[in-house]
Amino acid sequence: MKTVVGNWKMKVGTRESVALARGVIMALRGKKILPEVIICPPFVAFSEVRKVVARSRVQMGAQDVFWEEEGSFTGEISPRMMSELGVTHALIGHSERRSLLNETDEMVNKKIREAKDEGLIPILCVGENQEQRAAGKDFDIVAAQLHQGLTGIRFRPKDQLYVAYEPIWAIGTGEAAHPADAVEMHSFIRKHLKEILKNNPSVKILYGGSVDGENVYSFLREPEVDGVLVGGASVKLAQFGQIINSAIEAMEGEK
Ligand code: PEP
Repeated sequence: MKTVVGNWKMKVGTRESVALARGVIMALRGKKILPEVIICPPFVAFSEVRKVVARSRVQMGAQDVFWEEEGSFTGEISPRMMSELGVTHALIGHSERRSLLNETDEMVNKKIREAKDEGLIPILCVGENQEQRAAGKDFDIVAAQLHQGLTGIRFRPKDQLYVAYEPIWAIGTGEAAHPADAVEMHSFIRKHLKEILKNNPSVKILYGGSVDGENVYSFLREPEVDGVLVGGASVKLAQFGQIINSAIEAMEGEK
């Protein structure tokens, strides 16, 4: 099954989030084959969005979580709090948090551990910047982020882990990666995870970075690409609807 994740970032408030969530449900209505759809609204919108997606197949993801269960951590939100709101997934280590808020691999590691312990499915975001890519270090950077992000965390066979390959130069720039390059990186990540993770948990690898209604099929038709993580185009209903339809088309092609 293909996965479509919408990262709404800080682009919409509660009212717009509710309207978007309703639109996503409409976009899925009447479809025989359904992709996995996960929407990540801002924290303030969860209670209202939850009412809209209840009894639908649409799942909710957090854009971030903290690494402790509870305590004196002003402004932070724990995986447990998210889980109580019906959230199933959590983006962790998004490049905007790494670059703007100095989030380190060590912090990412602690967040993944706590999210997993609370039953959330972590979506670990990795990817190189333009300079690293130009220097031919993209694979090394991604390997290091995987190792450091996952070190010491025990996965069981029934656990799930998503990794989103999001080259930083492609995020919000309108310049998506070439699908062949994404495929190469995805198979590198898959191979690497086999070495890092014991017990063979289930793994999905998503591509993110300037995905839109026009280019999404060129990624989703690739068997190596389990899904997409979409930022800007996920808050535009027409675009997101096209992305969902392309996921359905790709799933039909798999049959
Ligand atoms: C993102 O922020 O995760 C992202 C992929 O953004 P965009 O789709 O806008 O490039």
